[in-house]
Amino acid sequence: MSDIPLQLHHIQQRIARACAQAGRSADQVQLLAVSKTFGTDAIAQAIAAGQLAFGENYVTEAVTKIQHFMSHAPSLQWHMIGPLQSNKTRAVAQHFQWVHSVDRMKIARRLSEQRPDSLDDLQVCLEVNVSAEQSKSGVMPEEVAAMAAEIVRLPKLKLRGLMCIPEPSTDPVAQRQPFALLRELLHDLQRAGHAVDTLSMGMSDDLEAAIQEGATIVRVGRAIFGQRDYGQKVKI
Ligand SMILES: *Cc1c(COP(=O)(O)O)cnc(C)c1O
Repeated sequence: MSDIPLQLHHIQQRIARACAQAGRSADQVQLLAVSKTFGTDAIAQAIAAGQLAFGENYVTEAVTKIQHFMSHAPSLQWHMIGPLQSNKTRAVAQHFQWVHSVDRMKIARRLSEQRPDSLDDLQVCLEVNVSAEQSKSGVMPEEVAAMAAEIVRLPKLKLRGLMCIPEPSTDPVAQRQPFALLRELLHDLQRAGHAVDTLSMGMSDDLEAAIQEGATIVRVGRAIFGQRDYGQKVKI
């Protein structure tokens, strides 16, 4: 079991240092604590340490946690960051504030249709395949403009920006390339007149490179909660 408050503090320090190096202010970068596979005990420790935004990948697991914290923490923000199947969009539209992993119009339309009227617009990012690999999820860079133009017409979605999950690399220079590409794509959307402001990029091992290239949300799991054990059934 890792010391979650201490690890959170370390990550906040890494973010602050990277922002200082990039000439940015630390409040321009939001830390999303990726709590997938971790139970409510771990999340409660993070909340007690002041963390309010959480990222989840698996809808059923996430909804159980969201419901667990519903009563005593209405200020929490839940972000869906994992691959989306169309049979799970209703639960996502009902329970999350953000979705980072929109990668096709069918999913976007369903999320908009299924978003309850009583809730604010669902904040969404388009996931972009920055590694140009067939196997990877995400839209190709050349498809971003057309899909953004369609998404902004959906009544219950608010397009906020772009997200990517690059191939892991330990070379800080190589790490920056896909992040620079995502930043360019966001600028293209802004030049086309879209009010987008979000670059969701950077994880435990490459958040410094992402912040150098303009990340506004970094998604950190292992460096806060410890190694994930996918074999173990999650104890919620
Ligand atoms: C799991 C996951 C993360 C967090 O990764 P870590 O390596 O644990 O920091 C970030 N983004 C996405 C989309 C993920 O699935």
